[in-house]
Amino acid sequence: MAMLRKSIDNVNFYTFRWLNKTTLSKTLTSATMNVLQGLAGTVVASIKFSLWIHLGSLMALLVLTMPAQAEWQRLPFQTMGTQAYVELWSEDDDLGKDLLIAVQNEFERINQLMSPYIASSELSLLNREAANQPVLISNELYLLLQQAEQLAKLSGGAFDISFASVGFSYDYRQHLKPSAAELTEQRSLINYQHIQLLDNNHVMFARPGVKIDLGGIAKGYAVEQAIGLLAKAGIKHALVTAGGDTRLLGDKRGRPWIVAIKHPRKSDDIVAQLPLADSAISTSGDYERFFIEDGVRYHHILDPKSGQSPSGLMSVTVLGPDATRTDAMSTTLFVMGLERGMAFIEQQAEFEAIFISSEHQLYFSSGLAQ
Ligand code: ADP
Ligand code: MG
Repeated sequence: MAMLRKSIDNVNFYTFRWLNKTTLSKTLTSATMNVLQGLAGTVVASIKFSLWIHLGSLMALLVLTMPAQAEWQRLPFQTMGTQAYVELWSEDDDLGKDLLIAVQNEFERINQLMSPYIASSELSLLNREAANQPVLISNELYLLLQQAEQLAKLSGGAFDISFASVGFSYDYRQHLKPSAAELTEQRSLINYQHIQLLDNNHVMFARPGVKIDLGGIAKGYAVEQAIGLLAKAGIKHALVTAGGDTRLLGDKRGRPWIVAIKHPRKSDDIVAQLPLADSAISTSGDYERFFIEDGVRYHHILDPKSGQSPSGLMSVTVLGPDATRTDAMSTTLFVMGLERGMAFIEQQAEFEAIFISSEHQLYFSSGLAQ
């Protein structure tokens, strides 16, 4: 695939439009779109990734023009080992406040179900027992394991929750990694086919030593669940974000939400921003949890084939319809690397991606235009 490139080193940041999203491409004539699509895969420049939300100053003006009870409500909170944030528009002040708490509770409920650090979680139960016998789990976790399996198959094993068979030997805070011998031994345990999804919500692992971790999908799932409960309660405009996973419900009342991609090496800078509505965006990067030893960066995304961190990219951002899939997909593309990842995402009709290479180059898929 031919990918154009240009340097962004001397650029403030890039703004991208998502071409297939009618809300965002209204102003483009079809002729313009053809030209822009011809530039697909263009490399831009130096970047990284955590997501930033710009809170518009327009907000105050909008509030003034609304009935007294309606306003934007916001709650930042800690969950799943990361910072989360919810912002919503409610016509009813009390309902809005209740929903902020409901969102926080929903995250904590999912954390209790899926955390590898909580001994009573269903995930911990699987890791203790599933190699010995079939283990009964909730339908909710079973369905998420099915989704993880689907992406494992689709990605040829780049996404594989059994990465944890090796992953548990890394401790990024303590700068610990598996020895060469441990790596050789544990690597063969990484294989999504070792995770047997049996009838009636039972799960069994094919070999002793197999471990799973949902760190690549659970946060996006929780974000999606939170948006689901807000939509069900009648909310039309909301943003929920946790770590690098964000989901937008509706727009920001007449204008798009603006989501930014952080610079992977300069935490105060952004490399790009995107106007979005009714969609999800997730970023995976090598800068959130990592340590450097002998010039090698050991970070929290592992290539299931090697049991080690891929090194070609600094961050990958994925746009799509729901946060469960954008979360898992960003981790997947990070493992695949630029060439394979770009080819893969171009096959996924509902998804777009922005890659930032270790050479500080930015590349984007053909459904985006700068
Ligand atoms: P973050 O957790 O910072 O949002 P990601 O969405 O990229 O970042 O998820 C990284 C997490 O995904 C890791 O911390 C780990 O739990 C999990 N993970 C790492 N490698 C893989 C892989 N190959 N397949 C599935 N999950 C993975
Ligand atoms: Mg992810």
